[in-house]
Amino acid sequence: MSGGAPGGGPGGAPAFRLEGVSRRFGRGAGARAALEGVSLEVARGEFVALLGPSGAGKSTLLAILGALDRGYEGRVEVFGEDLASMPEARLGALRNARLGFVFQAFHLLPHLSVRENVAAPFLFGGEGGGGGARAAAERALDRVGLLARAGDGPDELSGGQRQRVALARAIVRGPEALLCDEPTGNLDSATGREVIGLLASLNRDEKMSVVVATHEPALAAAAGRRLGLVDGRLRAEGAGA
Ligand code: ADP
Ligand code: MG
Repeated sequence: MSGGAPGGGPGGAPAFRLEGVSRRFGRGAGARAALEGVSLEVARGEFVALLGPSGAGKSTLLAILGALDRGYEGRVEVFGEDLASMPEARLGALRNARLGFVFQAFHLLPHLSVRENVAAPFLFGGEGGGGGARAAAERALDRVGLLARAGDGPDELSGGQRQRVALARAIVRGPEALLCDEPTGNLDSATGREVIGLLASLNRDEKMSVVVATHEPALAAAAGRRLGLVDGRLRAEGAGA
């Protein structure tokens, strides 16, 4: 979790830069814009909350920032590199090593231990799950306060603990940015607060950029900047998002 920034892209570039980004689903008369002309920058080390009603385009925007959805129009740069001109192998490395993802559902694999779940990104990254992966998984679990549960199965944990395991998995490779889609959406407010505290400290102490879609006022309040989305369009900043 060094949060270092090796591996390409101009050093001074923002974490994310979008210019006139639209995303349409469907064709012809049924076509619908989930995002429309979105331009924004997220600086390195910034913590941004995306707010807006259900269907506003928050998840669509996160998927584009995370190079998970490349069906957009417009320009998207991640760490200074244009996604459209990035070969598939580099996109995979970007998603696996430089970005971390946290979703509302925890998506832990039930037949693996907590430690193995956290080490999984090393398997997907092709480096195997050897001692280095195990050590990194334990460091990440320690970071979220769950090292003592490393050998347990996910189903032995509470919802809040499962989300902290998912967060450990997201940070296990020391990403430069975290993309979180309603990470407290399945948690009660007390356990949600633990996750919010961890996101805030990863942002503050590890200088990770954090972009989070949320309905949770306490999570929005932890961000340094709040952006409102309505019907796929960004509202003017400070417009009471
Ligand atoms: P939010 O996360 O803010 O609730 P979404 O980004 O999930 O909003 O969705 C924005 C709009 O795009 C919604 O109208 C949704 O139905 C539509 N949409 C999202 N993904 C798809 C898809 N894969 N196919 C068709 N429509 C989609
Ligand atoms: Mg959503």
